[in-house]
Amino acid sequence: MEELLLTWFKANGRDLPWRKTSDPYAILVSEVMLQQTQVERVVPRFLAWLERWPTVDALAAASPADVIREWQGLGYNRRGVSLHRAARAVAEHGWPDDLTTLPGVGPYTAAAVANFAFGRDVLPVDTNVRRVQERTGREFSPRAAQALMDLGATVCLARVPRCVSCPLAERCPSRGKRYEPLRRQPRFEGSFRQRRAATLRLVATAEQPLDQLDRDAVESLRADGLVAVAGGLVSLPA
Ligand code: SF4
Repeated sequence: MEELLLTWFKANGRDLPWRKTSDPYAILVSEVMLQQTQVERVVPRFLAWLERWPTVDALAAASPADVIREWQGLGYNRRGVSLHRAARAVAEHGWPDDLTTLPGVGPYTAAAVANFAFGRDVLPVDTNVRRVQERTGREFSPRAAQALMDLGATVCLARVPRCVSCPLAERCPSRGKRYEPLRRQPRFEGSFRQRRAATLRLVATAEQPLDQLDRDAVESLRADGLVAVAGGLVSLPA
């Protein structure tokens, strides 16, 4: 089954810029961006990021304010701050054996960087990989990681899988099944996330008086290291 999958991947795999490198920094940037943002939106932002900060040392030397500004529009801004902190840790101490010790790097991201950058024998299991494994009832080896991701993202879809186009269909016990709609993401409109994003956008353009901002949003952004408050003014961290 894995051979069928890999053959399919050779002809159908997505052409993504982070697949053209084994630089752990570039792969970490892509994985952090992909944590909560769709692939199509990540591609141009990833390329722009790498152009601005091509190495881990370059990112480590950037100011938090510049990093937060560059992250604007990707959502879940705390990821940008964590990525910056991770770059500083790597610039100072090198890449740790246990990548989960880096800020913002959980088990999945650690496994992805370990596999794609360091060639370690570990399978990063994201929602796409998990879905294909569960439906086929098979375990796949780490070398099939990207193929599993692409099959899950383009063929073995969450609700209505495209089994007629699937290279694993003949041997898949779930062939032809339909699935319940996934739980919807909480609405962004009117949410506290939206208030935070709007407040940060404002502060990113220029320093703002605290009394003219959403206080709860400022406090939450401050706790995440996304803004600094001093003398009644709110700014990006120095
Ligand atoms: S046959 Fe259908 S359910 Fe099975 S892996 Fe392929 S797309 Fe998914």
